[in-house]
Amino acid sequence: MGLLEGKNALIFGLANERSIAWGITQAFKREGANLGISYAGEMLERRVKPLAEQVGCNWVEECDVTKDDQIAAVSEKAARQFGKIDVLVHSIAFAGRDELSKPYHETSREGFKTAMDISVFSFVALTNAFLPILNPNASVMCLTYYGSVKVAPHYNVMGVAKAALESSTRYLAYDLGPQKIRVNAISAGPIRTLAAAGVGGFRDMYKHFADMSPMRENVTIEDVGNSAVFLASDLSRRITGEVLYVDSGFNTVGVQMTGKEEKSEGQ
Ligand code: NAP
Repeated sequence: MGLLEGKNALIFGLANERSIAWGITQAFKREGANLGISYAGEMLERRVKPLAEQVGCNWVEECDVTKDDQIAAVSEKAARQFGKIDVLVHSIAFAGRDELSKPYHETSREGFKTAMDISVFSFVALTNAFLPILNPNASVMCLTYYGSVKVAPHYNVMGVAKAALESSTRYLAYDLGPQKIRVNAISAGPIRTLAAAGVGGFRDMYKHFADMSPMRENVTIEDVGNSAVFLASDLSRRITGEVLYVDSGFNTVGVQMTGKEEKSEGQ
């Protein structure tokens, strides 16, 4: 029997087959969850619907998370379709290209607000909208990145947004704890997706990561999907307010060396 058998899981933020949300969707399917998928704009429908079909999901709903009415509508539709929800995944972020290439001090007021609204407030708003239909023991999760706690060049306002997202995770976990609803974040290592392509210098960062992380390997959407299964399942029933790193150990290293230096020292 799958780890998520009988659980109703909604995943927000599927754009294409490279999306982290797709890795999560596939892993949830494998573990027997009933799936619902939400995507951002009409433009994506063409790409998202065939993916949903692949996993036998027929609840595919549009929701632009900057619109309160769309959030309210999607939660009502979910209530009609599923009754109650056990797993809610927020895999959404956005910052303008300008904000991810110029120095951080040049961030515009609008750029700052947009990044915070789409990448942070939407997590709070979705959790609040779905709260009336979340089952006790439900698991809510979001996706974050190490640029929240340390400087990742060019990540800029998105790093600041991820810090707020991780903090929101803790506050939401505190609020919902008495109802036995858990809220956690997965901090994934860099993965080549649409969103990542907007971050200046991403390609170099991606390569650096594979050279420097203790496991000397990049992270895949399958890796993140499997960790999401753990957080969604009852195996993690006493874990809440946490940031779970799925990053080949990258965040644990203070002084980074490629391994080549260590070899030459020993010789
Ligand atoms: P992705 O495939 O581009 O997913 C980002 C999603 O956010 C897209 O589906 C996007 O839809 C959606 N989105 C943007 N604005 C939205 C809005 N107003 N309403 C609803 N949805 C909106 O990229 P991803 O890398 O998988 O990103 C998923 C999450 O993982 C993000 O939180 C990201 O920060 C996080 N993460 C990524 C990495 C990485 O290296 N890739 C590492 C750690 C954490 P549109 O395409 O229509 O805008």
